[in-house]
Amino acid sequence: MSMHIPFDNSFARLPGAFFTRQGPEPVRAPRLIAFNEDLARVMGIAPGEVEEMARVFAGNDLPAGADPLAQLYAGHQFGHYNPQLGDGRAVLLGEVVGADGVRRDIQLKGSGRTPYSRAGDGRAWLGPVLREYVVSEAMHALGIPTTRALAAVETGETVLRERPLPGAVLTRVAASHLRVGSFQVFAARGDLGSLGRLTDYAIARHYPQAEGPMGLLTAVRDAQVRLVASWMAVGFIHGVMNTDNCAISGETIDYGPCAFMEAYHPNTVYSSIDQFGRYAYSAQPDIVVWNLAQLATALIQQCEDKEAAVEEATAIVHAMPAMLEAEWLARFRTKLGLTSAREGDGALIAGLLQRMAEGQADFTNTFRALGDPSARDHFLDPAAYDGWEADWRARAEGEPDPLGVIAAVNPAFIPRNHRIEQMIAAAVEGDYAPFHRLNAVLARPFDDQPGAEDLRRLPSEGEMVRATFCG
Ligand code: AMP
Ligand code: MG
Ligand code: MG
Repeated sequence: MSMHIPFDNSFARLPGAFFTRQGPEPVRAPRLIAFNEDLARVMGIAPGEVEEMARVFAGNDLPAGADPLAQLYAGHQFGHYNPQLGDGRAVLLGEVVGADGVRRDIQLKGSGRTPYSRAGDGRAWLGPVLREYVVSEAMHALGIPTTRALAAVETGETVLRERPLPGAVLTRVAASHLRVGSFQVFAARGDLGSLGRLTDYAIARHYPQAEGPMGLLTAVRDAQVRLVASWMAVGFIHGVMNTDNCAISGETIDYGPCAFMEAYHPNTVYSSIDQFGRYAYSAQPDIVVWNLAQLATALIQQCEDKEAAVEEATAIVHAMPAMLEAEWLARFRTKLGLTSAREGDGALIAGLLQRMAEGQADFTNTFRALGDPSARDHFLDPAAYDGWEADWRARAEGEPDPLGVIAAVNPAFIPRNHRIEQMIAAAVEGDYAPFHRLNAVLARPFDDQPGAEDLRRLPSEGEMVRATFCG
């Protein structure tokens, strides 16, 4: 059986200013680690033989219809504008329109150098590839908009980091790879023709009902509000919310030093490069507003009546904090099992979070346990929880099914940092069983899965992961 990918490329037909045509660099000995059959089915991709898929997803064989290119973009990194980034270690193979009518990009990440690689080898090592595979698929299963993983391959080559490590390539699937930085690059250069063309393209592809640059800004705002609120609700910390990692589609993109928070604290940071906590857990709603302001600044450049555009864009961005607050409240209310809205719900949630922070309560396990006698055991001082629980019981009185709602929206399973590290360490030694097991369990995060209790447990002192790193 031969593999077939029904490419239907649109980005590659845009003017050359948006990208550089660039093929993937072949690797020495491709070996397939994983192929995501469920995703392939949705995309209408017929799988082939294992060796053939290994060659395709390593970049050694270019499938018919692919038109590989590296995309140009810029971005603010930790608040500082970098005028040119671009795909420095990835190529877009093309796009596929799935059985669900959705157009998706297929990108190889770790596929070699491109004209946008400034430093670096254009490659990725196995660790970040497996990490992105597991975490992005887990996010999808949690119902959070995200890029996905179609395949992972070993390259049979080593990549030099602090030491030589096995190389790998991830096949990433995204609603598109357009970012805030994709617009910034043309606005900063004063290339208004390209800016306008990209705006039209983004609207047609993602938000066909949107009108003009301000319509696009509004649509991206709404999508980002939903996205960041959904991160907050599961304790996800992206770690690098630079404007080049802020997708126009509203999907989570770029799984670098991201992490799921364990003991709850609003200031939690895992990323080793985030020295000042710019991208801390509770900073995320502020940062996404800042990122949208950068998109607004870029989009405005093409508007004829600048003054009116500035006024309109300001209103669009200024509405965002209240929207984030409302979305946050709605999600956390549901996390408490409450389906109606009442005055005082915000204070009830804040009261729990306050006690969780003081009691070093695990974010995931505590919410999952609410209403159960075991909930108090997650707090250093269980008595501190008891007082809150009495208030919650009073509030939950008359709610149709608080415990059912709690179990439906609070996951039992998240990709815990120490389990990811252990999975990577095993894979480096050639043992992929933990990788496959994690994927299988995390595909059903809301189900109690007897036999997988070990994946719910907190790390021991020796297993604890305190910092996460970029690829
Ligand atoms: P990323 O972490 O993938 O978002 O990368 C940020 C920027 O650094 C982008 O311009 C990447 O293309 C570039 N980059 C990251 N890692 C590498 C690498 N190993 N080789 C070349 N460029 C890289
Ligand atoms: Mg990035
Ligand atoms: Mg990254």
